Amino acid sequence: MSLKVNLRLLEKESIQLDGDILASELAPDFQDELMRLSHPVEYELMVERQSDSLLVTGNLRTHVDCECARCLKVFLLSVQVDEFSLMVPLAGEEALPVDGDFADLTPAVREDILLALPTNPLCGPDCRGLKPKGQPRELQVREQAEPNTAWSALDNLKL
Ligand SMILES: [Zn+2]
Repeated sequence: MSLKVNLRLLEKESIQLDGDILASELAPDFQDELMRLSHPVEYELMVERQSDSLLVTGNLRTHVDCECARCLKVFLLSVQVDEFSLMVPLAGEEALPVDGDFADLTPAVREDILLALPTNPLCGPDCRGLKPKGQPRELQVREQAEPNTAWSALDNLKL
């Protein structure tokens, strides 16, 4: 499964592409400590030929497995790119890969999804980060029982 569009057909009419592609297939090199692209990316695309370019418009939707950058909670982030519009050349350095009559839209879609990802995924806008872990009760009691040197010195002075 890949995002290929028939250039010969495009000369006559625009083509609609709907479906989904495995994120691992879309961006095999994607690596991030906090995000994993492990769900399929759903796409609804309209491709139109414009002289030496393709005009790609549509919507992308996926979910990303994330770890919160502040509290390390694992959560599922919904990512969508609505009504994006992209002009991709068929010639030159930035050209789409073309195989016979087929142009591969994968790089264009990959870029749009990657741009929609947060730099620091957060489980929620109000995430306050890691809560200080409560110390085991025994330890707390023992610490309180031990005289605090500074204060006990003051107490001694008063006496
Ligand atoms: Zn969080």
